[in-house]
Amino acid sequence: MTTKRVVADLIVTGCGQLVTLAKSDGTPRVRSALKDLAIIADGALAVAGGRLISVGPRDVVLATTGTSAQTNHVDVGGAVVMPGLVDCHTHTVFADYRLDEYEWRVAGTPYAEIAARGGGIAKSVGHVRAASEAELLSRTRQRVHSAIRHGTTTIEIKSGYGLSLEHELKQLRVVRTLRDELPITVVATFLGAHAIPKEMAADREGYVQAVVHDMIPRVAAEGLAEFNDVFCEVGAFSREETERILRSGQRAGLKARIHADELTDTGGAELAASLGAVSADHLKKTNDNGIDRMAKAGVFGVLLPGTSFGLPSLELAPARKMVDAGMRLAIATDFNPGSSTSESMPMMTSIACSHMRLSPAEALSMATYNPAFVLGREGDVGSLEVGKRADFLVLDCRDYREVANHFGINPVARVFVAGREWVAA
Ligand SMILES: [Zn+2]
Repeated sequence: MTTKRVVADLIVTGCGQLVTLAKSDGTPRVRSALKDLAIIADGALAVAGGRLISVGPRDVVLATTGTSAQTNHVDVGGAVVMPGLVDCHTHTVFADYRLDEYEWRVAGTPYAEIAARGGGIAKSVGHVRAASEAELLSRTRQRVHSAIRHGTTTIEIKSGYGLSLEHELKQLRVVRTLRDELPITVVATFLGAHAIPKEMAADREGYVQAVVHDMIPRVAAEGLAEFNDVFCEVGAFSREETERILRSGQRAGLKARIHADELTDTGGAELAASLGAVSADHLKKTNDNGIDRMAKAGVFGVLLPGTSFGLPSLELAPARKMVDAGMRLAIATDFNPGSSTSESMPMMTSIACSHMRLSPAEALSMATYNPAFVLGREGDVGSLEVGKRADFLVLDCRDYREVANHFGINPVARVFVAGREWVAA
């Protein structure tokens, strides 16, 4: 009996560790499953039409894959090959870094004083409103290119520095342009409820109304976002306001996410569970009840270690407790111009391991396979399995644990997106 072999466009061999993260039941990794990266020694993979058609030990892949004169053969000489990183929480559309503020923060200036000097989110709102769409696009493009060089092949990007219909739409159009021009997967989130803008300080209800009645319907009608996010925090949006904004988004077809319990325990985790939100993110101050509720509801906790690192404070979410409780967990950069000024997912795994006490394997599961579920892209990305997009990285090392351990450098040597090597134009 002969079977017709699919002819590969690309065959990659010499993968000393082929870190597949394959999981036969296709469910998120929790508890001990986070440590199982499904690594194949001396592995290989084959690609056709941008998708993986074979992943396994070298001999098996070579014996079962068809080739032609056009097939591109790449031998990576014993390097680690792993899935492209999935950064499920970023604020990449901004104009300028807040460098004065960084100096003040490291000198110990309290946040209230920084805010009184016009710092914080308000500062970035001023920058974004002053920038043209073309200027924002060009700066954001450069940052996304840098994220790709650091291994990110799927990225979520939020608005939230416009805080008016005009400027929120401007930010989301930048995300849409990048989604259309880049080969990587770009996912948009509307975060009009990031802060109350200065000009509405005396009328917060008026701003909440504008988010609910003007912005959300327009964003949904123009298909500019898949997710709706709210900063639920003392000084930002109350639990009650958060619930109204997220429910109105859900009615418009936008899935809910929450910036929850970052600075104070506002009950954001419980709210995420009761609303059926996709995720609650930050969670530094989440209490045991919140952890339990999220674990039971299957709501993802997105950990943002770069934010604590950059603030600078090493106060972090109780990640070990969350793993033990069986919570679904992911790690993301929270890349933004103030607190987490890094687009490097490898750096996030370093902080998560050294300071949240995750193992390198747990951190990689939370940076690839699990966040694909947060973004609803689990059928496409996050692991190296037949049928998924051929988004993979060739690392400059022979042991995946170096990704976390060897910090402050870029461990990514080559990036392949849908089976083609990424080369910035
Ligand atoms: Zn954030």
